[in-house]
Amino acid sequence: MKGVDLLIIQPTPFCNINCDYCYLPERSNTQKISLDTVGLVIDSLVENNMLGKRLSVVWHAGEPLVLSPSFYRPFFDLISSKLLPINVSWQHSVQTNGTLITQEWCDFIIEMEIKIGVSIDGPKEVHDANRKTRSGKGTFDKVMHGIQLLRDNHINFHAISVVSKYAIDDPDSFFEFFYNSGIYDLGLNIEEVEGDHVQSSIFDTNLQEKVKAFYSRLFDLYMASDKKMRIREFDRSLEAILRNPGEPDIKLLSTETHQNTPMAIVSLDYRGNYSTFSPELIGQPAPAYNNFILGNIHRDNFSSLQANELLKSMTGEINAGIQKCREECEYFYVCGGGAPANKYFENGSFNSSETNYCKHNIKIPTELVLSYLEENLAAW
Ligand code: SF4
Repeated sequence: MKGVDLLIIQPTPFCNINCDYCYLPERSNTQKISLDTVGLVIDSLVENNMLGKRLSVVWHAGEPLVLSPSFYRPFFDLISSKLLPINVSWQHSVQTNGTLITQEWCDFIIEMEIKIGVSIDGPKEVHDANRKTRSGKGTFDKVMHGIQLLRDNHINFHAISVVSKYAIDDPDSFFEFFYNSGIYDLGLNIEEVEGDHVQSSIFDTNLQEKVKAFYSRLFDLYMASDKKMRIREFDRSLEAILRNPGEPDIKLLSTETHQNTPMAIVSLDYRGNYSTFSPELIGQPAPAYNNFILGNIHRDNFSSLQANELLKSMTGEINAGIQKCREECEYFYVCGGGAPANKYFENGSFNSSETNYCKHNIKIPTELVLSYLEENLAAW
């Protein structure tokens, strides 16, 4: 097992909005995590020597901003009191739907140096098609208000856009929206099949040429722009293609977040249940895998993990899937074997290779970057 470098904590499963593509099964549940639960997890990570020099703590799997800064303050104090004496540095992050950003939150983000990501899908009509309130209204205006507050407070943020069928017809408007709004750090999440969300609007075979055309035009606009904008998928592809093969595989596309490495990521739900591999797995209905729950920190210290049969069998299946990728896929050199959650939710098994997700998020961007490099190197 590798050192844990990403701890994902579910402060509450509740979300104040109700996006059409949401995969979280408990988004109406308003329960909250306790200080005791987080304290036990950090203690167990420390006692079992599972931490490296740096820990990223992401508050996720529900809308984190439904709880106030005063809720989080004791958790942040607790984490710093446990990590500071052992020289582990940490970074708190939140990914928010952006509708609940207030001046109080901006002050807290600045004080605690929290990294913040905002989910916004693109122009109003694209965003509002999926990202709706519980009564079905679009959330675009509220999100833009939140973004303006971040800007007024000089808080840097990144944006994540879920690309659905509503975005792919007009890549020019999509790019212009982000660029003209000054949202220069953008990640694209192609609408996935995960958990509760069993059908992606974009996986339709009739749409595949459109998806390619969308990416292709976006890439052209990106390359022709003044380079203020960063689009994660293109940058990561370039980095993976150009990496030194002698370097550790950290720059491979699917291993960048260690989703294939046992216990590199620890996902903790509000009850104290914990899991690893892809963060989307925890708590999803899968009786054969105990809903991907390896244990509960109130009963099972991490010292019991070496003998954990579920962890062993998931690791074996995931490794077999990576081996399939290695044997079958010409993109393995840049990818490294994909995300276990996408393999499970799309193919029904970790022991599998290609998914629609990897076609969209790995193969297409890699092709575009490679073609660009080949053309430009040829002209050089
Ligand atoms: S099949 Fe998909 S997940 Fe597997 S190596 Fe290729 S791109 Fe990656």
